[in-house]
Amino acid sequence: METVTTINAARSRRKSDRQAGHTVVLVPTMGFLHDGHLALVRRAAQLGSSVWVSVFVNPTQFGPGEDLARYPRDLPRDLDLLRAAGVDVVFVPTESEMYPRRPAVHIGFPGLDDVLCGASRPGHFAGVGLVVAKLLNIVEPQVAVFGQKDAQQALLVRRLVEDLDFPVEIVVEPTVRETDGLAMSSRNVFLSPAERRAATAIYGGLCQGRDAVAAGERDPQVVEALMAALLAAQPLLSLEYAVCVGQEDLVRPQRINGPVLLAMAVRTASARLIDNLPVTPSPESSR
Ligand code: AMP
Repeated sequence: METVTTINAARSRRKSDRQAGHTVVLVPTMGFLHDGHLALVRRAAQLGSSVWVSVFVNPTQFGPGEDLARYPRDLPRDLDLLRAAGVDVVFVPTESEMYPRRPAVHIGFPGLDDVLCGASRPGHFAGVGLVVAKLLNIVEPQVAVFGQKDAQQALLVRRLVEDLDFPVEIVVEPTVRETDGLAMSSRNVFLSPAERRAATAIYGGLCQGRDAVAAGERDPQVVEALMAALLAAQPLLSLEYAVCVGQEDLVRPQRINGPVLLAMAVRTASARLIDNLPVTPSPESSR
């Protein structure tokens, strides 16, 4: 496994990969890896012959007062995990390598970046768009793999690549969960034992919403109320949003008659957690 830290070194390794005829697959991460990240890496190995992982805690996607400074980091452990997973190249740039000066470019997704997580994290998706565009331009992968865990991010990355004609295929992999359903996240380490126990209500709420749709419920507001109900019983969790929205436009439909995204964001005293379930109603179950 080769670790590269500069854009020049990444480009020169990319050149030799291309000369060797490799299909390069990139998995962008912010490190502090867990099994969710490693599932993306395994998928990447099926999709190509040279697996690249970037590890970069991107400052431009954190707002003032967010957890940039305390975001968990453990590069030696990450490198061990990636080596064991058979990764070919790890790109670990410094902040000044990626942002030698304040970027003048602003990537906006009007209507899509100011809802759900964007509503409480203004500027977050502009930062995500910028860093993903840079990583795609630096690594020039044929395929890039993202997680459904960050559904809004995955949607915006697909739109970025489609609208700007990046020559890359975006693959989105299902969310990997702990055995009790909590979505794996680097931020789960922030949770106290009591918060960790309470946090199962997030997936519980999503499942209630999913089950209601499967049973024929077609009113998105009823589904949202069901998703939120379990959370209300958890004093350690405060609900930021529980929504039932279209998978492509993130707008709540009048009625559920196509694929929807059930998505939640929850705050504890120590972390902000997100999760979602994509749900497709079956025509027979409608009531
Ligand atoms: P992060 O390091 O949190 O920026 O995540 C890097 C990539 O891993 C993103 O595409 C995430 O959506 C994905 N990811 C994070 N957690 C999970 C999970 N539990 N299951 C699947 N993918 C995940």
